[in-house]
Amino acid sequence: MTDPQFDYADRIARAQAELAERGTAALLASVGSDLPYLTGYEAMASERLTMVVVPQKGTPTLVVPELEAPRVDPQDGLFEIRAWSETEDPVAIVASLCGSPARVAVSDQTWSVFTLGLLQAMPGTVLVSARKISKALREIKSPTEVVQMRAAGEAVDRVVDRLSVMRFAGRTERSLAEDVARMTLEEGSDHATFAIVASGPNAASPHHEPGSRVIAEGDSVVIDFGGTVTGYCSDTTRTFHVGDPSAEFLDAYAAVEAAQQAGVDAARPGTPAQDVDAVARAIIDDAGFGEYFIHRLGHGIGLDIHEDPYIVEGNEEVLEPGMTFSVEPGIYVPGSFGIRIEDIVVCTPLAAERLNRSSRDLRVVG
Ligand code: ZN
Ligand code: ZN
Ligand code: ZN
Repeated sequence: MTDPQFDYADRIARAQAELAERGTAALLASVGSDLPYLTGYEAMASERLTMVVVPQKGTPTLVVPELEAPRVDPQDGLFEIRAWSETEDPVAIVASLCGSPARVAVSDQTWSVFTLGLLQAMPGTVLVSARKISKALREIKSPTEVVQMRAAGEAVDRVVDRLSVMRFAGRTERSLAEDVARMTLEEGSDHATFAIVASGPNAASPHHEPGSRVIAEGDSVVIDFGGTVTGYCSDTTRTFHVGDPSAEFLDAYAAVEAAQQAGVDAARPGTPAQDVDAVARAIIDDAGFGEYFIHRLGHGIGLDIHEDPYIVEGNEEVLEPGMTFSVEPGIYVPGSFGIRIEDIVVCTPLAAERLNRSSRDLRVVG
């Protein structure tokens, strides 16, 4: 995952500046995106600990299982590698690299088994969440990162267009989801991350797991999926309808489409994240479907599919150029139908720019 387009030395320097500012001695990152962000190396998620120790000053050390050390791209001088053998205790190695400082920050997705082990091994040290540091480093994307996000968005847009000419009726959700994943790769993603295909009454469950239900005439079908390009995520949703929709469905669809547009229009620099949610939600409320919009308007996206900033009531954080996030209103009527439209946008100095550009109009399929 190391990519010459990214300046890892600069990222580590920024992490060290954050540590200094917060009076924190080191940043510990394991599974999750902070480690690949800083080093280009992605830990294997397993009971064998991989963890980078980024001290406030000096060279970081990547603690890695000996048998996985050959996977590491050493990248001259960026970090030291401490390979540990099967009979060593990697938690003790991390603890000794840290010393006994007052405060150490641990990345959010670190497994509890390791965090609890570190708590025991470092009794004099307060372990704090590294979320604020991750946010400071990763929330505002560089132009190079936006290039990856744009490419990721274009790849899934092409999948949406291919889906629009396919026949849905008679297919199971699962088989359609398999097609979505295959096309996500064919259209240029490095990985297909997920594919939700939710049909008929299942479409009222926003995170439905595609199953054996056979799609039929009269169904709405919510397809929400994404992949990655150079580690950066895409995430888009379009709603299809098999055959002619009812008047109620069309009313709900029009409300979601208008709410999505209003959300994108409202997502300007200087606007609090929660105001963007409120603007979109008001449109769905006014259309009489407010009780059926059961999730936040959006989430930040980058190396993680869900990260800061969250577009949700209560988040007063102000949007800034370079932030990338989803705008994804939905209406979910239990037992009946579901609708969601989702685009990723990047906040620019003037406005939000969509990174997904496939048509948002209802797609009627066979
Ligand atoms: Zn979701
Ligand atoms: Zn999505
Ligand atoms: Zn999303």
